[in-house]
This record gives sequence, structure tokens and C-alpha cells, in this order.
Amino acid sequence: MNFQKFTAAGYDLRTNTSESTLKEYGILGGGIAGLSLSNFLGEDSEVLEKDSECGGLSRTYEKDGFYFDLGGHILFSNDKEILAYELDILKGKTNQLFRKNSIWFKGRHVKYPFENGLAALDKEDIFDCVYNFMENPQRPQNNFEDWIYNTFGKGLAEKYMIPYNSKIWKMPPSEMGTAWVERVPKPPAADIMKSALGIETEGYVHQLYFHYPKEGGFQTLPRTFEGLIEGRIKRNFGVKEVRKTPNGWSVTDGKETLEYKRLINTMPIHDFVKVLKDVPPKVQKAIDDLNYNSLIVVMVGLNCESTLDKTSTYFPQEDLIFHRVVFFDYFGKNYVPPGCSSMVCEITSREDKKPWLLSDEEITEQVLEGLAREGFINRDNVITIAVQRTKYAYVLYDANREKNLAILYEWAKEENIELCGRFAEFVYMNSDTVIRSAKNCFERLTGQGNSYSNRG
Ligand SMILES: Cc1cc2nc3c(=O)[nH]c(=O)nc-3n(C[C@H](O)[C@H](O)[C@H](O)COP(=O)(O)OP(=O)(O)OC[C@H]3O[C@@H](n4cnc5c(N)ncnc54)[C@H](O)[C@@H]3O)c2cc1C
Repeated sequence: MNFQKFTAAGYDLRTNTSESTLKEYGILGGGIAGLSLSNFLGEDSEVLEKDSECGGLSRTYEKDGFYFDLGGHILFSNDKEILAYELDILKGKTNQLFRKNSIWFKGRHVKYPFENGLAALDKEDIFDCVYNFMENPQRPQNNFEDWIYNTFGKGLAEKYMIPYNSKIWKMPPSEMGTAWVERVPKPPAADIMKSALGIETEGYVHQLYFHYPKEGGFQTLPRTFEGLIEGRIKRNFGVKEVRKTPNGWSVTDGKETLEYKRLINTMPIHDFVKVLKDVPPKVQKAIDDLNYNSLIVVMVGLNCESTLDKTSTYFPQEDLIFHRVVFFDYFGKNYVPPGCSSMVCEITSREDKKPWLLSDEEITEQVLEGLAREGFINRDNVITIAVQRTKYAYVLYDANREKNLAILYEWAKEENIELCGRFAEFVYMNSDTVIRSAKNCFERLTGQGNSYSNRG
């Protein structure tokens, strides 16, 4: 076995397949998880993707010369090895940009994160935030709401953190767990004081400078992986049925049946168990009880240049349908036609509730009305609208998630099915964590390295 270092070309790991026509590894789903895993595993793996294009959640869409991702996507990571790997893969295809986010509060922009922009608030609000940060009796920490109060104090919690999080998660923070946020550091007292006095401070510094593709939007990342593994991707292969066989697994799209010794699922888990035969009722129930939010993205193309110079703005207000607007022209002037600008408005929803149940036209009307009311657009400048809906967008960390995941993971292990990726593992992962998970999966499958789990 030949083992090369961890580079853009992936590991060179060749097994002898001459005795069998079976491929070793069948990977379901061609998002970043499936593509990067195939790059690690090498020749003896195959990716099956239902769409005509790979990329999943990391796809980029184009309309009338305007480009937009499925919500704001940037390249950043605390994981230095993976970030270096992503940049190595992209080899000079990215720009480094400075984050200029804001929070829209009482009709003005407050620097992001909120606790670093306090000087922009009214004096009463500044006092409320600073005093309650300093005098912050700690409560027993049982849920996300407790964590918010303990970390930020009542002022910051009630002005921004609770309304914004209730809006994006469509669930009260008191019903959510904390496994995904406990790594977020408590803001230093010195930063709160400085920010209140108007002395520049920065928070969430790991994403203060980020990388973004010069061309092609965020999809350049999955596209680059596709280039590295071309020849072992089957597009337009919507997996319809998966069965165990004496030699491993058979997978069909209803037209063609393929066989693999090992199966790795990167598809959303809810859809995977619909195509897998004989899922035990207990496991089915655990998966049915895993909750997620869907996402609607409305792209607004404008025939005028932006004067904002912002990456994105967060909107905690209940009477605005979108929670975040990303200014796509900030990522490169080539992402909009000359003299134009664009806004990508993100809206989360439960699948069985509004706004998901509204028509695209009704959602668009609410977006444009909200943007105009707050002074972000003049409706006469709107020249293009595009709407994209994504069923599985955000994993919800509700009270039952961990219990249900334990059932899922135990069953997958018994069945010898590998789970890898955001909605296969049901973990709030960005592309960097997804690639880390793919590397771990590669190491588990091949006995290489010391893999660890991200499954928080
Ligand atoms: C709004 C938003 C903002 C984000 N921002 C960032 C960011 O700033 N930076 C960052 O790094 N990450 C960000 N992410 C996360 C990033 O998009 C994901 O972590 C990553 O794209 C997930 O990749 P994946 O392969 O795990 O899953 P997916 O992208 O969901 O891939 C699963 C694939 O399976 C395919 N599939 C499904 N069913 C079948 C079937 N029956 N047969 C065959 N194939 C099937 C799908 O078509 C898809 O291609 C963001 C995500 C969202 C939603």
C-alpha cells in the first residue's frame, strides 16, 4: 500500500481490485463530503449524485449575470490543516477579503458581532448591555437560552442574541441544547468596555479575514474537487434503493444497479433511510424525530451600485421576513453585471409552516417590501429576482437530538454503513468540518491515521 502525504491530490491509496469487478467504496451524494472523501480514497471509490451538477449546499446559481450562493458562504476555519488543504486545492483561485458585517438595530448599522459595536447604540442601550454584562448572576446552564444569558448578560441577550436566534432557528433558545456553541468564547470584559467607548475591537477573529473564490462563487470548491476525481462521479444518479448483498451493497437509481463492498452515505439521513431496505422501527423513529430548518434564498439584482461596502447584515426584527442579507457584489465585481449590485436574502422556515408554505411571489413581495421599508433598496432599481429553496439547510440542536443521534450512530455502526457530512451525520458543519469528517472517514475505512469524531 502506497501512502502519500495529505495534499490536493488526496492520498494515493491503491488496493488490488483485479480479483473483483466490485468497486470498494460507493459514496452516496456528491456534495463536499462525497467529493472530498472520494479524493482521499482514490481510484477505488465512486460518487453517485442525483443532480446534473455536484456541490449540494455549496452550489452557486447564476441569473442574468448575477451570481448567488445558497446563503452567504465563505472559506474560513479554526482547523489550520484543513484550511491549508482547501487553499491548496483551490491553488490561487481565491481572494482574501475582510469581513465587514453589521447588525441592523433601531434603524442603524451596528458592527458585528453585536458586542463589538456597542458605541453605535443609544446611551441607555449601551448602559444596559455593559452593566448587565458586568453584573451577570450565572444561572444553571440547561439550554441555549441559559448559555446566552450567562455568556452575554441580559442587555446583549435581549436586544440581539435571543431575538436573532429565535428568528433563524424558528425555535425558542430555551428549547435548544448548547453542544454546538460551547466552544464560542465569552467576550472579554475589556472588549465590551472598549466597544462601548468606541475604541475599535474585533470579535470572532477566526473569520475576520476570509477567503472566497475569484470566479464561479463558492461552488468553485466542489467543482475543483470534481476536477480531481473526474471519471468516478455518476451524475443524474438519484439513488432509489439500497440493499445489502452477500458481497456488500447494491445501489440502484431504477435504471442501473451498481455494487460496492463498502457503503458511505453523505445524503441527508432522512432521505437515505427512505431508500434503504429494512430500517428498524426504533431507528426510523429516531431519524423522524431529528429536526431541521429549511432555507429560502431570494436573490435581488439591482441596476445600481451599492454604497454600503458591507459583506452582510443581520436582521433580528420579527417584522422582517429575512434574517440575513448578503451583499454579493462585495465578493467580487464580476459577480454582478457592470454598474449593478445584488442582495441575497436568507429566510429559514419549517417545512410545514410559513414562510415555506407561501408562494415564491408572496415571499419575494415580503422581501422587497422589507428591504424598501428599511431603506436598503428603491424598488424601481430591482431588475432581477431569483428564488431557491433548500429542504435540508440547518440541523436543529433541540433537546432530543443527542438521544436520537446515539440510536442512529449505533445502528449505522452495526450495519457497517459510514455516515459522513452535514445532514448524514446531522451535525452543524461548515465545509471545513465536512472535509475533516471525510478525512476521518477515510482513516476509519482504511485504518490510516488517528481519526477523531466531530460529532458534537
Ligand atoms: C445558509 C448556509 C450558509 C453556509 N455558510 C457556510 C460558510 O460560510 N462556510 C462554509 O464552509 N460552509 C457553509 N455552509 C455549510 C456548507 O454548505 C455545508 O457544510 C456543505 O456544503 C455540506 O456538504 P455535504 O456534502 O455534507 O452535504 P450536501 O451539500 O447536502 O450534499 C449532499 C449531496 O447528496 C445529494 N443527494 C441527495 N439525495 C440523493 C439521492 N437520492 N441520490 C444521490 N444523491 C443525492 C445532494 O444532491 C447533494 O449533492 C453553509 C450552509 C448553509 C445552508
